[in-house]
Amino acid sequence: MPTNELAGDRSALLVVDVQRDFCPGGALAVPSGDRVVPVLNRYLGDALEHGMTIYASRDWHPPITRHFKQYGGEWPPHCVQDTEGARVHPDLHLPSSTIVITKGQDPERPGYSAFEGRTPDGKTLLADMRDRNLDHLYVGGLATDYCVKQSVLDAIRQGFKVTVLHDGIAGVDVRPGDSERATAEMRDAGAVMMSAPRDETLPA
Ligand SMILES: [Zn+2]
Repeated sequence: MPTNELAGDRSALLVVDVQRDFCPGGALAVPSGDRVVPVLNRYLGDALEHGMTIYASRDWHPPITRHFKQYGGEWPPHCVQDTEGARVHPDLHLPSSTIVITKGQDPERPGYSAFEGRTPDGKTLLADMRDRNLDHLYVGGLATDYCVKQSVLDAIRQGFKVTVLHDGIAGVDVRPGDSERATAEMRDAGAVMMSAPRDETLPA
């Protein structure tokens, strides 16, 4: 059932990194990361209904990058280009009009933010949003404490209004409380938090 919570002619939806490796069973699984999938599907349905621009970022690393532990970074190998783990979660319903933002290709940088990524035409997300005269971004996806947070903070820095789909994000929480701290940081920077009302089944 559509939630019809999203609105605004100059708004776009950004779904961050809902890839197999970030979901249970993946190389760098966010605990219950796949719970965001049905929630984001509803938001995607809304966005499509409103004719909004839809972006989906993907982490897309070379096999050798300073982002990975064995080359001096923080993480086990994940979302390596053209591997199974780098694929979008199979249950996420991205419309065919979705603009994929590819990031994390630079072996010298972690590439957390979607604003470091490029469209298939080679444009930055910032340039693409400006070309479409967008001024507001709804953001959901994985992980709250890394790619979602950095994308949100970059969007705010670039002057966009940002609404975080709070029921459509999940965090890694390497240190307990990281997601909560990330949420506070995004809010302090000016992001609005929203959750769509759920369809609830009343007890009989
Ligand atoms: Zn990564």
